[in-house]
Amino acid sequence: MDAVIISLMPHAGDALLVVDVQNDFLPGGSLGVPDGGRVLAPINNAIAVFLSQGLPIFASRDWHPVNHCSFREQGGPWPPHCMADTPGAAFSSALNLPATATLIYKATREDEEAYSVFGGTGFEGMLRRAGVRRIFIGGLATDYCVLATTRDACLLGFSVVVLTDAVCAVEVHPGDGERALTEMRQLGAQFVTCEDMSA
Ligand SMILES: [Zn+2]
Repeated sequence: MDAVIISLMPHAGDALLVVDVQNDFLPGGSLGVPDGGRVLAPINNAIAVFLSQGLPIFASRDWHPVNHCSFREQGGPWPPHCMADTPGAAFSSALNLPATATLIYKATREDEEAYSVFGGTGFEGMLRRAGVRRIFIGGLATDYCVLATTRDACLLGFSVVVLTDAVCAVEVHPGDGERALTEMRQLGAQFVTCEDMSA
């Protein structure tokens, strides 16, 4: 294992953020990310690594009212998805999220959209109180919520490590996923695979 990989091993001051691994964002869901299911095994590996080291784990979910502004019926870009307390908003049953994970609900008001996990959720304060300086990010989707969250994290002064085998893009426009990864790298994010991390 080379020096770069070792420096990207989780340690004190690190946290794992699992972004929106919800049924509606997985194949078969109302806004399913094609091939999104491939993030599940890598994320479960990352969860096991962070659990074994006693490091904090956060998991976000889109949690919309029935008339949310992002839905097409309200003039937004998306079909209805992740409505609060529906099966579509539930985490995938294949996600091994521990009971100790801190859950973050976003875009919970009809007039509020939040691709970023930092958007109106108090997430920054949670991280500061937990002494977190570096965030490992995996989840859905690369070109929306993972990108927006990485932007905010970098602006707020956190280091970011993107788990490249644990993210997947919507690709409304072909190439969006690659462009998002390029932007995240330009923002200063580092990349590692969960496979390397759990090796
Ligand atoms: Zn949404």
